[in-house]
Amino acid sequence: MDDTVRQHKYVLTEDQMPTTWYNIMVDLPTLPPPPLHPGTREPVGPQDLAPLFPMELILQEVSMDRYIEIPGGVLDVYRQWRPSPLFRAHNLEKALGTPARIYYKYEGVSPAGSHKPNTSVPQAYYNKKEGTTKLTTETGAGQWGTALAFACALYDMECEVWQVGASYDAKPYRRLMIEAFGASVHRSPSQLTDIGRQLAQDPRNASGSLGIAISEAVEVAAKDPNTRYALGSVLNHVLLHQTIIGEEALLQLAMAGDTPTHIVGCTGGGSNFAGLSFPFLREKLAGRISPRIIAAEPASCPSLTKGVYAYDYGDAAGMTPLMKMHTLGHDFIPDPIHAGGLRYHGMAPLISHVYEEGMMEAVAIPQTECFAAAVQFARTEGIVPAPEPTHALAVAVREALRAKETGEETVILTALCGHGHFDLAAYDQYLRGAMVDEDFSQDRLNEALATIPEVAGV
Ligand SMILES: *Cc1c(COP(=O)(O)O)cnc(C)c1O
Repeated sequence: MDDTVRQHKYVLTEDQMPTTWYNIMVDLPTLPPPPLHPGTREPVGPQDLAPLFPMELILQEVSMDRYIEIPGGVLDVYRQWRPSPLFRAHNLEKALGTPARIYYKYEGVSPAGSHKPNTSVPQAYYNKKEGTTKLTTETGAGQWGTALAFACALYDMECEVWQVGASYDAKPYRRLMIEAFGASVHRSPSQLTDIGRQLAQDPRNASGSLGIAISEAVEVAAKDPNTRYALGSVLNHVLLHQTIIGEEALLQLAMAGDTPTHIVGCTGGGSNFAGLSFPFLREKLAGRISPRIIAAEPASCPSLTKGVYAYDYGDAAGMTPLMKMHTLGHDFIPDPIHAGGLRYHGMAPLISHVYEEGMMEAVAIPQTECFAAAVQFARTEGIVPAPEPTHALAVAVREALRAKETGEETVILTALCGHGHFDLAAYDQYLRGAMVDEDFSQDRLNEALATIPEVAGV
């Protein structure tokens, strides 16, 4: 036994918790192109978004303030699980035999078990303040639905969730948790909305998609003046709320006396990755540090590495504004891989822009490599990761093994954005040797890319 005493946990006190979110827009050399109205194709104004979102969030969406105060009521709720811990993965490093130092910021300590409450709480807070009585949303694996149901319960609002059909069938436990928090859950496509009834007629839509579930939730919110819609990723205000992750990690790495050379995160819509990396990108743009910033996405839903950068809809039915983003096409239906949270056809416009500007990299990883890294992580660090962050862990392992060969000074920071306690069926499949890497179909991608609307002048 090795009895060396090593510090492996970096904890901030409540008083050290950051009290502002960081808005990267102010520090970017160029601004991302604006969202366009789906009908007129003109840039959307605040009034266009007012039926769906409270004004405070609409203003955050376009804010040019570098720091935005976190309301006291939100800080109070954050303190239930924040500041979240940063760990040094000494045991994983040892198992890999790598000289690299690996740190992970753990967001699985929240009531929902992921980073999602960092934004569900302020979204519910601002809605409540502006008189909303009910929120609708979509969810894939159920993490966002759980987080929003938790936040709505806190603020005594109704919550109605459309869950992607495949996940609804395969993952009953998060649905039950959503119901335990008092929200209602429907299998999408459902018979409750015009768009659900219409899309359900095509058998290819039977297993659902995030794009379809978004269309259903948006339709219901748009029809009722007291109901609004909440999105768990992609939009600027969502990425903004997640920056508390990176702000805390900056302080914690300073406690450790270390500077990252690699920042790695998984990307579905891009919110946890932006949350971790944007405060570090601020430091990089200011010339104080120079880490590589790497997004890890699934090989079966590779919006950054195989998608195009174009204006596309955020949902399947074309009801949302057109956003300039990396997209596989709004009716792309990815294979039913285990990382349900990464099965979105698009990527946050802000992440897409930062990627196009060459400020970050992306890599696509097959799911068996992810679970190999996850199992090694669980057996060394004692935490069973959600399927989504296993993509980031796989990249961390790749880079740590590279450091072993090259001897290059390597300090990896990653976001362990959720635990996998409700995803054990995926582990079961991996451990039985039954997990396969889906083939990515170029034909299916081409079909979906062909439906991206043509927008003049871009
Ligand atoms: C929702 C979710 C994701 C994907 O969403 P991002 O916006 O890309 O962060 C990743 N990991 C977990 C644990 C999630 O719940």
